[in-house]
Amino acid sequence: MAEKFVFKPTKIEQLQDNYDVIIIGSGGAGLTSAIQAYELGLSPVILEKMDKIGGNTTRASSGMNAAETFVQLNHKIVDSFQAFYDETFVGGGKKNNPELLKFFTEHGALAIDWLEKHGIELDDLTITGGMKTMRTHRPSSMAPIGGYLVTELLKLVKKDQIPLFDKIKVDKLLMTDGKISGVITDKEKEIHAGAVILATGGFGAGKDLLEKYRNDLLKLKTTNQPGATGDGIKLAKAIGAKLVDMDQVQVHPTVQQDTSHAFLIGEAVRGEGAILVNKQGVRFVNELDTRKNVTKAIDDLGGTGAYLIFDTGIRKRVKAIEFYDHVGLVESGQNLLELADKVGFDPQTLQMTVDKWNFAVAKKDDLEFHRTTGMDRKIIQGPFFAIHIAPAVHYTMGGVAINPQTQVLNENNQVIKGLFAAGEVVGGLHGNNRIGGNSIAETVVFGRQAGQQVFKYLQ
Ligand code: ADP
Repeated sequence: MAEKFVFKPTKIEQLQDNYDVIIIGSGGAGLTSAIQAYELGLSPVILEKMDKIGGNTTRASSGMNAAETFVQLNHKIVDSFQAFYDETFVGGGKKNNPELLKFFTEHGALAIDWLEKHGIELDDLTITGGMKTMRTHRPSSMAPIGGYLVTELLKLVKKDQIPLFDKIKVDKLLMTDGKISGVITDKEKEIHAGAVILATGGFGAGKDLLEKYRNDLLKLKTTNQPGATGDGIKLAKAIGAKLVDMDQVQVHPTVQQDTSHAFLIGEAVRGEGAILVNKQGVRFVNELDTRKNVTKAIDDLGGTGAYLIFDTGIRKRVKAIEFYDHVGLVESGQNLLELADKVGFDPQTLQMTVDKWNFAVAKKDDLEFHRTTGMDRKIIQGPFFAIHIAPAVHYTMGGVAINPQTQVLNENNQVIKGLFAAGEVVGGLHGNNRIGGNSIAETVVFGRQAGQQVFKYLQ
């Protein structure tokens, strides 16, 4: 068996006073932009405040959306940039920044190519809520994308000997003559560079920003890592950056939170065929409607949460379920009656719900809720499973304003020279609702773009 890859951050003694570009944050956006900048001949450094590398990216489970890819063609799926754009736009309440969305939807396929050239193969496909086509790329092992992507990118960081320091928090951006000139860390060390890339992620675990912009969500649990506190947004704001959509916070509908932790149950579970039922064991929503709409339907149940129901056939299609089971989130029964008994549904009701659903799958016609995707397999193969879920804070759509060149803009929509941003720290791409699979795609598409644009800027 291949040896498990363990990444060791760079030793603090090796920290220099000067780099071409400082990248703040070690999630998908930070790692991708660093590799891209390095490959163009720059000397980048990555600074990560936590002792864990990878940010919220490591928690992403479903996959990476992209249209017109060679992977889709291998699966005989003919897609289009326009369909990807339109479905994301509708899913985002038509509030998405059109320029960013255009760049995003037209560069996903190049990002998939780039990953493949770097040995990162996402050759299986699934689907997420709000999408009409299989365009969510994931590893053929069907492993959750986040851990896989971060590990593979870190192998490249190691190979290229790109310095990556953990436990260094950036507290301030430095400006000289109207241009970014470096950062100051929490240890009050100045590090100088011609450009800075903010890749600091969102504020899904940032109580102060949530309180300021979405007081109503403070009572919910969060799926975010504790470092997701919106630092990049504050750093940029302090030097005059414009913020957009700050009140647009995504609540994810399916989060298991009966333990002290909040575990996100990836959309791929529904994408591969799971249904949602209420406490009585009855369906109540098109499970693959957008996150916003599914969350509302669960909230309307009156605080009981809901249950994902699936069988062994679906379980085999989503590797993450092994993990969910391992940490005790999954109830199981050899047959539906046993499962109903364990969870507390009326057995006949659950049986009827599943029979009706299987009939809808066979006819490809969901008369009740008009679901049209994730209907490739019935719920028929025991053992059967249930996961209790409820909505939790998941993703912050708002953040710093950028142009498609990833340059951060000030209040007057002018470029702040030398400041770039990519990933969840940026606002505007997702409108009022992010589609599953678009955040990983955003980190790679705009991470690459940031690396390229920094190179151009520094010429
Ligand atoms: P994205 O998906 O946009 O790449 P992630 O959440 O995966 O975002 O990663 C962002 C990373 O940035 C996290 O690991 C987070 O701890 C780190 N980070 C946030 N603020 C700072 C800061 N002030 N200094 C250094 N690292 C930071």
